[in-house]
Amino acid sequence: MKNIHNETVETLAATFKREGFKTFAAKQVFDWIYKKRVHDFSEMTNLAKGVRAYLAKTYVFGRLETVRRVVSDDGTIKYLFGLEDHHLIEAVLMDHPYGKSLCVTTQVGCNIGCAFCASGLEKKTRDLSVAEMVMQVLEVEAKENLRVSHVVIMGTGEPFDNYDNVMAFIDVINAPNGLEIGARHITVSTSGIVPKIDAFAERPLQVNLAISLHAPNDAIRSKLMKINNVYPLAPLLASVKRYVEKTNRRVTFEYILLDRVNDEMAHADELSDRIRGINAYVNLIRYNPVKEFDFKPSEEARARAFFDRLMKRGIVATYRRERGGDINAACGQLRIREQKGR
Ligand code: SAH
Ligand code: SF4
Repeated sequence: MKNIHNETVETLAATFKREGFKTFAAKQVFDWIYKKRVHDFSEMTNLAKGVRAYLAKTYVFGRLETVRRVVSDDGTIKYLFGLEDHHLIEAVLMDHPYGKSLCVTTQVGCNIGCAFCASGLEKKTRDLSVAEMVMQVLEVEAKENLRVSHVVIMGTGEPFDNYDNVMAFIDVINAPNGLEIGARHITVSTSGIVPKIDAFAERPLQVNLAISLHAPNDAIRSKLMKINNVYPLAPLLASVKRYVEKTNRRVTFEYILLDRVNDEMAHADELSDRIRGINAYVNLIRYNPVKEFDFKPSEEARARAFFDRLMKRGIVATYRRERGGDINAACGQLRIREQKGR
């Protein structure tokens, strides 16, 4: 039996066509699942009997098991989910003035293994299926009795290392008959897989792209992110320029401020020179300390000075505090704690 949440409108329509059913029934099925939130094919009363019977013998509705739900002082809610093969993944719900945003996980573990990141402490065990990503949204919505308005694909894993499933996931949550979350309300973050940035630029949807930069030069970036040895800054920034040219969209450069590692004034200057002219802004992120690593967040005064320097040099930047720090909400942390039984 297959999980129905793995299907996009297009794949389901193709299946229906092959089976000799009307393809528009795919949209009707999506309405039942994602609008009316029905969990049983027999309730899909406007479908032909044959279609219902086919669905019932082919598909199941999967569920994620909520292992833990932790609420932070600032209202951030972290979910730890158990998959069918008992691996643990997490999703984080954030309450913003503009809506509810969910941070979704794309892989069990992460092979990129960045030096500062809890998710990279464990090698990737496997990619998540489309359904396992879709179900993170559905489970949180059901448990909290709300609708998620924004999705950030920034949980554990490298989304562009699970490209096809992540793209299908985006299609399901964006589909008018699906969760109908606007493309502009969806953000995907990558450590910088150049060929996939180029592929992503070819897609019609106006989904936001964030690039984890974290360094002003190759020497520092290679120390923090070993992916930089494969895709160094020059080809990475060239692909970002191509993306902006092709899509006319502004990208976000993420930059975690790490004390005495990448937060010197000279680094702000170098960064400004490197990215000047690219339609982008820099999102300065406060580091959420991870016990296993020695990195520390930049002192507030240094962070402010770095921010001011970028702005003075004509680079648009934002600086906000990391949310959910008291519940290990950053990337992969709760999961790691749980597995180690702490
Ligand atoms: N693998 C993708 C998406 C998941 S990580 C990527 O790297 O972009 C999402 C963001 O969280 C990245 O910018 C990552 O560098 C950042 N991050 C990871 N660990 C962090 C921590 N301890 N504190 C703050 N940000 C962190
Ligand atoms: Fe993987 Fe992103 Fe963490 Fe790097 S920062 S280890 S790419 S999840």
